[in-house]
Amino acid sequence: MANRIDQEYDYIFKIVLIGDSGVGKSNILSRFTRNEFCLESKSTIGVEFATKTLKIEGKTVKAQIWDTAGQERYRAITSAYYRGAVGALLVYDVTKRQTFDNIQRWLQELRQHADSNIVIMMAGNKSDLNHLRAVADNDGQTLAETEGLSFLETSALEAYNVDKAFQSILTEIYHIISKKAL
Ligand code: GDP
Repeated sequence: MANRIDQEYDYIFKIVLIGDSGVGKSNILSRFTRNEFCLESKSTIGVEFATKTLKIEGKTVKAQIWDTAGQERYRAITSAYYRGAVGALLVYDVTKRQTFDNIQRWLQELRQHADSNIVIMMAGNKSDLNHLRAVADNDGQTLAETEGLSFLETSALEAYNVDKAFQSILTEIYHIISKKAL
């Protein structure tokens, strides 16, 4: 059991990053937790998770963000990855239509393995590559509305909407959890 004296946060929330390989999950994670971006495509298996502590409505919340660490390439994400997750950021690449078309498959996987109350946000990443765009902002909006998800376009490269996406997921989770505690 956690020692209350050592505990430096009020809540810890596990959030999983999912979506096809190459959509920018690792860079979204590094942008949010370390304010770093890497142009090279990583060749090795990456980190498992990184954390960032922030204030949500006056409470100290530690966000523990999990990256698939390349396992999605082999369709090898296990149910352990989803266990205990209270939020998910479902990412596609606005320049690759297939990554958007695969969103349904990822949603199915989430609904199969994750808790039914999980807060899901969809992110259309690489919004900086407007000249290569293959998915309109409107397509993202429409799918999100149909599936009842929140939605933002993001750019890990330009640090656009990355903080906002996590802030929004964490706030929604906090609202659900604090209501439950009443
Ligand atoms: P992952 O496989 O989903 O973890 O994707 P990565 O984070 O490894 O990114 C794949 C490639 O896309 C890398 O070459 C990144 O530099 C690039 N990338 C990631 N996010 C962005 C972005 O917002 N804009 C642009 N232009 N490139 C990005």
